[in-house]
Amino acid sequence: FKVPAIENEPMKSYSPSSAERKLLQEAITQMEQELPFEVPCIVNGESIKTGKIAKQPLPHDHAKHLCTYHEADEATVAKAIDGALAAKEEWESMPWNDRAAIFLKAADLVSGKYRYKLLAATILGQGKNAWQAEIDAAAELTDFFRFGVKFVEELYAQQPAKNSAGAWNRVEYRALEGFVLAVSPFNFTAIGGNLPGTPAIVGNVVVWKPSPAATYSNFIVHQILTEAGVPPGVIQFVPGPPAEVVAQAINHRQFAALHFTGSTFIFKKLWKDIAANLDNYRGYPRIVGETGGKNFHVVHKSAEVKNAVLQSVRGGFEYQGQKCSALSRLYVSSSVWKNGFKDQFLEEIAKIKVGSPQDMGNFMGPVIGRPAFDKITSYIQKAKAEGGEILIGGTGDDSKGYFIQPTVILTKDPKSITMREEIFGPVITVYVFEDAEFDKTLELVDSATEYALTGSIFASDRKALIHATNKLRNAAGNVYYNEKCTGAVVGQQPFGGGRASGTNDKAGSISIFYRFVSARSIKEGF
Ligand code: GLU
Repeated sequence: FKVPAIENEPMKSYSPSSAERKLLQEAITQMEQELPFEVPCIVNGESIKTGKIAKQPLPHDHAKHLCTYHEADEATVAKAIDGALAAKEEWESMPWNDRAAIFLKAADLVSGKYRYKLLAATILGQGKNAWQAEIDAAAELTDFFRFGVKFVEELYAQQPAKNSAGAWNRVEYRALEGFVLAVSPFNFTAIGGNLPGTPAIVGNVVVWKPSPAATYSNFIVHQILTEAGVPPGVIQFVPGPPAEVVAQAINHRQFAALHFTGSTFIFKKLWKDIAANLDNYRGYPRIVGETGGKNFHVVHKSAEVKNAVLQSVRGGFEYQGQKCSALSRLYVSSSVWKNGFKDQFLEEIAKIKVGSPQDMGNFMGPVIGRPAFDKITSYIQKAKAEGGEILIGGTGDDSKGYFIQPTVILTKDPKSITMREEIFGPVITVYVFEDAEFDKTLELVDSATEYALTGSIFASDRKALIHATNKLRNAAGNVYYNEKCTGAVVGQQPFGGGRASGTNDKAGSISIFYRFVSARSIKEGF
């Protein structure tokens, strides 16, 4: 058995008269007519309606709900953990060919039968426009499953290089003993699929708590996995309440790993809770997390201005800046700033339309919810209070949906609050540096913040690229030259960062699969 050659899922263009645009619009209209949906917990393949109802509002029209969902109660979480442990033996012993076939089929279902439904749920529920949803819920999710199978095939093939006379050596990549807890974020439907999917492909059983703000799209992902053949109990779908579900799972003796994407604050808290429980576990849990970012673009005096401008607009404002990887600190060489960058940047931003995500003319949609709206607008106020100058934007309107205008703050203080702390919204803070102070600026880039996720360097002078890359050795896990700092592609740019940004286990690569297996060496004598 060999996994067939694979490619990244091609992205559709959604040009005005295209078939895909029509299909997507039909899917959205149908979903709008049928909402709100009712989402149960799924445990051992059964729907459980606990009656503890929570709601997922539409971020662009918060009077409406995409779904109501049944939060898991204590008995349901206990059942989910017991059921996962009961399903484990059969799942991990399933021949690899069969497990692989299930995830290859899931990839095909995402890219085919469910594409527009998943996109519609991501657009309406998480406020992405069609192209942002396509990158995520169609392309990246398909890639996570397809490439995941390929990576695991490569992993299993890693075998000892030597056998001594009369002996045969091999390594078996066992699933972890116990269950994995997956805690996924709202901002990528693909990450919703990947956090339970990655451990499950290598034979683990998973208790999955999706983000409340992505419940419906994630529920569809769970349905797809079930349709593809993931057996009952292997991935348990327990949508909240977040703190309770997570606490119950990590207090369990058989807790084996955390696969997390979300805020640095919560990740640190969970790490401490896990440490406090260590004596209770059978083993040392694996902790894998991708958390916040405070990502940078540095524009050298040799940069090509137009490209640096366009990439910065996209890096900062696509999906309203709600990517862990989004640009939020922009360091621009003063000659570039004066000679076109500032004017072109503000001109491009002035053209951005903000509004309903299903209207394809809108480059930006809403931010995810009330707490996000309040947090982002309060950062804008704090920046002003510290003397930051708002060059454009700075306003929001939450009367119907949670809309915030693309905002640029100019600061003279490279350590001001919006240069240090993660905002997770459409706000870029600019610091203009003297051309001769490139080196000193790189030190500021490195030291301004605790995070180290992504960053880009814009220069046509290769020496400047090399110098910056060396100086910023630990400032980002994903570095780009003359490209925006978002949009890592599975199988092309393994994704993740260090410092406060996470454990840098590199989603979208073979590396992360090592974290969810426990190898066993077997020597056979003859
Ligand atoms: N992988 C995504 C990117 O490169 C970001 C993922 C995230 O926001 O967690 O843009």
